[in-house]
Amino acid sequence: MGYKKVQEPVKVKLKKNDLIEVTTGKEKGKTGKVLKVFREKNQVLVEKLNLIKRHTRPSPTSGQGGIVEKEAPLYVCKVKLICPKCATATRFRMTQTGEGKKVRVCLKCKELIDG
Ligand SMILES: [Zn+2]
Repeated sequence: MGYKKVQEPVKVKLKKNDLIEVTTGKEKGKTGKVLKVFREKNQVLVEKLNLIKRHTRPSPTSGQGGIVEKEAPLYVCKVKLICPKCATATRFRMTQTGEGKKVRVCLKCKELIDG
């Protein structure tokens, strides 16, 4: 019917607790830990990065209310994984171990990123 899917979804290969570096935008160069991965949106939530201010109302659970800073998700194309072995923001590829487990390999130091 003339419809063609032109954009393949980016595969999010980041995981919770990964260390990343922001490669573009106002947070460029900052690093943080991945708190949550939104695969269907290609976004990650990173600890203390991309903070937005939210107004909260006083309530018995949150107390006083006021303005709180909260992390907003970042697109995965704007971040780079930091290799825990060589401590460099790097590219990596997927590989399979002998047991058939999918793991990530750092393209710089060739070490396995996933223990
Ligand atoms: Zn490395």
